[in-house]
Amino acid sequence: MLVAMSVGATEEEIEDVKAHIAAEGLTAHESRGMERVVIGVVGDVGGRKERVMGRLSALPGVDSVTPISRPFKLASRELHPNDTIVRVMGTPIGDGSLTLMAGPCSVESREQLFETADAVLAAGGTVLRGGAFKPRTSPYSFQGLGVEGLRYLAEARERTGLPVITEVMEPTDVPVVAEYADILQVGTRNMQNFPLLTAVGRARKPVMLKRGLAATLEEWLMSAEYILSSGNPDVILCERGIRTFDTWSRNTLDLTAVPLLHHATHLPVIVDPSHATGKRWLVRPMALAGVAAGADGIMVEVHPRPDEALSDGEQSLTLEQLTTLAPMLRAVHEGVRGLAKDPLLAR
Ligand code: PEP
Ligand code: MN
Repeated sequence: MLVAMSVGATEEEIEDVKAHIAAEGLTAHESRGMERVVIGVVGDVGGRKERVMGRLSALPGVDSVTPISRPFKLASRELHPNDTIVRVMGTPIGDGSLTLMAGPCSVESREQLFETADAVLAAGGTVLRGGAFKPRTSPYSFQGLGVEGLRYLAEARERTGLPVITEVMEPTDVPVVAEYADILQVGTRNMQNFPLLTAVGRARKPVMLKRGLAATLEEWLMSAEYILSSGNPDVILCERGIRTFDTWSRNTLDLTAVPLLHHATHLPVIVDPSHATGKRWLVRPMALAGVAAGADGIMVEVHPRPDEALSDGEQSLTLEQLTTLAPMLRAVHEGVRGLAKDPLLAR
């Protein structure tokens, strides 16, 4: 539920409300707007809802108490009307600027990563991606370099100044991945790995949560809620295509998700046209479409020699293709800036 304090409520009144919430075994999340303080109440109220709402409404300084209609409380715009801006090494994500995450599917060698990282930096990329722990469909496929790959990512950050994002697959790997990476990626296959979500929720690094292959938007946001409720406010969502009946593309990019998410949640939304399409020639149009739909950023796979890539070569852009794509993305972003996210559209 949401407790809206009256304009001019005193600090004592605000603290008193929070104390009453804590006494019920619930958690208070305060947000200070221009005019008034709103306190979100999160936890399992069960059959106590009416009584708790009645008690809080009667406290001095309380203007109104209303239920939050969404099951994902902390992720919802009802509780947190303003956009979340995630800051990574000084780079904001979700502030209206365009985030461009690019890099190889897998970190294969220091040379391959450095060559790619230099091109990502030159193209104006803002985050370097690269998988060290790889979730492969086949146990016989390249599984990633593991900690060696994390070390190369850290070296590439030193070299370029770009923050790095990489996937973590196991709760027990969270500390080591968080030691090297700037953003922890939770992959599609792990969107509902609840122990992993809780573990990254306890980490002190931002998390990018990719949509499950067959997850509804609500299931996805409930997974984000696991991370948020474990104490990590810095969650980024990534739409990477879902499984549908068509076979001409690897997945189906659900771009309707972008405005729907902006309407329902304050969390930044990134679009990954590489895993969504599985084909290099489809990446550019769908990346541009993602920006036009109002995404806060794009994640694309790039490789110096895609034909030799150890994973996802077919969907990886060449370095030259990234160089031509980046200014096109910026041009579309310039054109739609603010428009696609306009709350008027939601009326
Ligand atoms: C990836 O980004 O490398 C990846 C494995 O993506 P997804 O989890 O979306 O398949
Ligand atoms: Mn990949």
